[in-house]
Amino acid sequence: MTSVSFRRKKRFKPQQAKRDTSPAKVDVSKYTNKGVPATEPPAYQNQYSFDDFPIDAKLRKLIHEKGYKTPSEIQDKAIMPALNGKDIIGIAGTGTGKTAAFLIPVIQQLLENGEDNYALILAPTRELANQIQDEFKSLTRGLNLFSSCLIGGTSVSQCLKSLRRKNHVIIATPGRLQDMANQGAINYRDFSVLILDEFDRMLDMGFAKEVQRVNRAMTNKEQTLLLSATLDKSQQRLIDEVTDRALMVQSERSTHRSNAINQEVIRTEGKDKFALLKDLLDQPEQDKTILFCETKRHADRMVKKLTKSDFKAGAIHGDKSQNQRERTLNQFKQGQINILVATDVVARGIDISDVEMVINYKEPKNYADYVHRIGRTGRAGKMGRAVTFID
Ligand code: AMP
Repeated sequence: MTSVSFRRKKRFKPQQAKRDTSPAKVDVSKYTNKGVPATEPPAYQNQYSFDDFPIDAKLRKLIHEKGYKTPSEIQDKAIMPALNGKDIIGIAGTGTGKTAAFLIPVIQQLLENGEDNYALILAPTRELANQIQDEFKSLTRGLNLFSSCLIGGTSVSQCLKSLRRKNHVIIATPGRLQDMANQGAINYRDFSVLILDEFDRMLDMGFAKEVQRVNRAMTNKEQTLLLSATLDKSQQRLIDEVTDRALMVQSERSTHRSNAINQEVIRTEGKDKFALLKDLLDQPEQDKTILFCETKRHADRMVKKLTKSDFKAGAIHGDKSQNQRERTLNQFKQGQINILVATDVVARGIDISDVEMVINYKEPKNYADYVHRIGRTGRAGKMGRAVTFID
């Protein structure tokens, strides 16, 4: 198994932020394709195929129906030990197949024991929690396994109602979970498995105490699966507290290769930028596009302008309510709108498989944001296109 060392995480320092926010510092040549990016390691040699895992034929069929042919690196490394009951620390970010890596063992256990309130999954954001539930639903279709998703910004009474129904898995963001526990609607002692997804982000968002409280209250816990994109010393104490003789596995490879993205730059100086954008969007074969803006206000303004020009656009950013965000994301997924105008914060982690183009209408602040933004296209083995406007 890969050995992983605790790396010092780059802390967010004001001077650093200042340096990063200057668009002039980002080398434009980084926004264009230059062959295969050096960041993608050579192809991973799988140890297992899905047929090798001792899982129910019905689950295997559902995995197959999702189009998953071979286990991704993190699935290859984590599924077998997790099926054997081991605690896992999985170092894997979005796009690595981490969700199925922890759901497949949980679903298999549920097919064997059918326990109510078996697994509790904590996620830092509402979008991620919803995505986990979507993956759970598609991997349990027809299996009579049920889940509830408890997230902020939704109706409390709906959450309470869903908890009165039969649930095998609860997916929650920390705040709403705490709320439900305070109202006596959740009993942590019921659960056998704790899953912490995007653990590093959870800590960055200040949820360390909540994670600790939940873990301590789960007195009948038998297994912890912890997923984190990064690992650093500041997390170690809490990791030691929540896991027991955990196996650490790491994924360096995503389920899709990032060189499936065509990257282009459009220079806008002295030209009508919005007219250039319309030309770009007007192409007949154009389907789903994510357009990045810097601010929430700018995003709203762009939606207005685009709608006026007969494009079907919607915005998703931090000022939108959870309901609005979900509605817009669903409209985008279902094709009622084909341009999603977004800011960086909410766009992280969004996993929509058929986004054809990402447009950076406003240059990203730094290269890391750029990589995150363009990673919304070229997913699930499809070609993608990324266009960056340089003022
Ligand atoms: P995740 O990292 O869990 O957000 O997954 C990223 C994307 O990879 C999602 O679109 C999954 O549906 C997809 N995916 C997960 N596992 C596999 C697999 N074994 N083969 C192909 N795609 C996968």
